[in-house]
Amino acid sequence: MDKLDFTYVPRAGRVVFGAGSLAHLEREVLALGAQRALILSTPEQRGAVEAVARILGDRAVGIFDGAVMHVPIEVAREAREVARRLKADCAIAIGGGSTVGLGKAIALDSDLPILAIPTTYAGSEMTAIYGITEGGLKRTGTDLRVLPRTVIYDPMLTLSLPVDMSVTSAINALAHAAEGLYARDVNPIAALMAEEAIAAIGEGLPGIHANPQDVDARAKVLYGAWLAGSVLGSVGMALHHKLCHTLGGSFNLPHAATHTIVLPHALAYNADAAPQAMRRIARALKSDDAPRAVYDLAGKLGAPRSLKDLGMTLADIDKAAEIASANPYWNPRPIEREAIRTLLQNAFEGSPPQ
Ligand code: NAD
Repeated sequence: MDKLDFTYVPRAGRVVFGAGSLAHLEREVLALGAQRALILSTPEQRGAVEAVARILGDRAVGIFDGAVMHVPIEVAREAREVARRLKADCAIAIGGGSTVGLGKAIALDSDLPILAIPTTYAGSEMTAIYGITEGGLKRTGTDLRVLPRTVIYDPMLTLSLPVDMSVTSAINALAHAAEGLYARDVNPIAALMAEEAIAAIGEGLPGIHANPQDVDARAKVLYGAWLAGSVLGSVGMALHHKLCHTLGGSFNLPHAATHTIVLPHALAYNADAAPQAMRRIARALKSDDAPRAVYDLAGKLGAPRSLKDLGMTLADIDKAAEIASANPYWNPRPIEREAIRTLLQNAFEGSPPQ
């Protein structure tokens, strides 16, 4: 057992989980004390969202379908204005991390309660972390006001998530759980949730790959994503998330695919410094080698393996190593520039984790 010395802060928030649980939407809106919901989505998910609005009838006062990646401040302002104009008393964010992020940006300065209905595995709905992009720069922060008050997880809404996105999004979730296990502030509850998350994702994901309409497999992975998001929301992350943030922000690489490629290499970098966490990750994936198990899982499911496949260039590696080692941050193994460069080189090539 880990050394018992920790602080544990449970997050308030109501979670309704289950295939078909979207049917409880009206009940959940009323439980928030709300009558006038503004529904948020991306333009791509507008059709699915209109069906959801019909469930609410008159209690849905409008749809704002302008959510895009990285929450540009202009979009957040426009959505806040629409909410004010329609006298909305809650916002329902249906979609992935980008749509939930828009909901958070609205909540940050309006106190509008957010009800989130995630349709990917990103996990943003369980964290108080927000990000807003202004003048090309993404500002992130933590504020409990942005935490959705209610989350409805309905695996039926994830059936439409294409297999390739399902795989990378689920490994993005697995990354929250894996880094949570060696977080400086890990606690026994977060560790339990993290190991269970990894096991659920490891068991469910091959089922989705074999049959994207497999509701049980979808439920298992969404359950894992919920737990992984809860871990992300309660303990600090380290090298892996820092690297992915750098690669996404500086080289405009896609969020979930970048996580999928980098994770085995970041775990290998930390393996000797975090043996306890590695044992739990490996156990959850029914293996004896955590980095290799993640690498093999992603490979078996056809996920991209190398950063060069995402459009990164060889010249970017030095720049990325520089940025990632510039401001020291906590990690179980100290940040060594040359070793980080080697890690990035391996991820660039897609070679097995070393
Ligand atoms: P996303 O929200 O950008 O969605 C990607 C695309 O998939 C969109 O076009 C969306 O409409 C579509 N989509 C979503 N669900 C679908 C479904 N079920 N069927 C068909 N299409 C669907 O992607 P994401 O990976 O969920 O989120 C990434 C963003 O979330 C990043 O900006 C990241 O920084 C942020 N994020 C934030 C936190 C946090 O705690 N603040 C946590 C994780 C991710």
